[in-house]
Amino acid sequence: MDHDDLAHWSKRAADWARDYHRGLRDRPVRAQTAPGETAARLPQRAPEAPEPIETIFADFECIVPDAMTHWQHPRFFGYFPANAAPASMLAEQLANAMAAQCMLWQTAPAATEIEQVIVGWLRDALGLGARFTGTIHDSATTATLSAVLTMRERALDWAGNAGGLSGQPRIRLYASAQGHSSIDKAARIAGIGQENLVRIATDADFALDPERLEAAIRADRAAGHLPAGVILCAGGTGIGAFDRIGPALAVARAQGLYSHVDAAWAGSAMICPEFRPLWDGVDAADSVVMNPHKWLGAQFDCSVQFLADPAPQVRTLGLRPDYLQTLGRSDVTDFNEWTVPLGRRFRALKLWFVLRAYGLEGLRTRIRNHVAWAAEARDAIAALPGFQIVTEPRLSLFTFAFGDEARTAALLQEVNDDGRVYLTQTRHLGRFVIRVQVGQFDCTREDVMTIPRVLGELSGAAA
Ligand code: PLP
Repeated sequence: MDHDDLAHWSKRAADWARDYHRGLRDRPVRAQTAPGETAARLPQRAPEAPEPIETIFADFECIVPDAMTHWQHPRFFGYFPANAAPASMLAEQLANAMAAQCMLWQTAPAATEIEQVIVGWLRDALGLGARFTGTIHDSATTATLSAVLTMRERALDWAGNAGGLSGQPRIRLYASAQGHSSIDKAARIAGIGQENLVRIATDADFALDPERLEAAIRADRAAGHLPAGVILCAGGTGIGAFDRIGPALAVARAQGLYSHVDAAWAGSAMICPEFRPLWDGVDAADSVVMNPHKWLGAQFDCSVQFLADPAPQVRTLGLRPDYLQTLGRSDVTDFNEWTVPLGRRFRALKLWFVLRAYGLEGLRTRIRNHVAWAAEARDAIAALPGFQIVTEPRLSLFTFAFGDEARTAALLQEVNDDGRVYLTQTRHLGRFVIRVQVGQFDCTREDVMTIPRVLGELSGAAA
């Protein structure tokens, strides 16, 4: 296959993509395949001789789509969304065509500078203070790991980078009980240890209690530990919980700790000014992460970390060996120094395309619709016999149960086998609950109201 063939097959792929998206509503949302089925359809070994692309493409059409869960389906309401707006897909095609490696300014000047400008656009669109700059990672997990490594090194005055953790005091991190598991992963990878991530109990609204946070930090200090950082939750994965960001950041600051706010999902909603009270006080954070690849339409992967001052993170993660020097230039930003991997994709391009192609007002309208339709779906589910709303909508996420765990789990299985909508579960206060999040780029009110209709039918509660 050469570049002429590529041009031909790219057109075929674009046509296929259009038809695929047009036909999504006719497909079951969740893959209806058994483990091992796809692998059994592939040969045991790679071919020795080249195969025609026609054959490969035909196999793709025959094997892959039916064995996929369709994240772009307008009735995907599981986990959190992973939206890929058409403008984002187009930008990804262009980025793929250049297959740029954006580790240094000089390996991709346009990518570096577009990233700088677009992070600024997004900061302003979210209403964050002008002191924030930032960078684009693959995932919120990487951004949180970067922040946790920075917390560790800042607390150790960068002695850990040089000499390791042996002989150092026990480092402690603090997060809400509602915080994401990526914080546990970061504590593990950073050598801090999951046991030294102190999960602070939440209040009646499932927000981290700032008084308990302060008490835990003081107690750890008294015990000879080294408090290093606080990770706050703005839109938790389970039920969408929000910590009281301002008061919790005030404690972190008063205690001299580095702070990171995880707004991976909910951050996108902050383009709407009316939702910003949910993260009131966020401007005092050292680091904030949000994923445009969740709710904003810039397809996976695209996770923006805003930094009040990049210097501590760059000091923690940045290395500049001879072979990575940009000779004769000290006035450029090399974004590999801001993050964990050296190599970097051109992620800013899709964000640039999305923000321009839909405009902030177009994106706000989508998010406002999602929040409004989630509230309607909540009311319709609450009216079904036997259903209980367990947590009320936070933005566009709420949870419900259908009696006890066995009945709720059985109903969830039925719903996802049925395939018209896709829902996933969590456990809240020990109770098995079904989550509903509304956030698909192209979903309509009718798509969302399919949820109560399907639940009513399958639970036998339909009129
Ligand atoms: N933080 C929150 C609140 C999340 O909901 C998620 C994923 O859903 C993550 C972090 C991890 O995101 P990523 O997949 O970008 O690592």
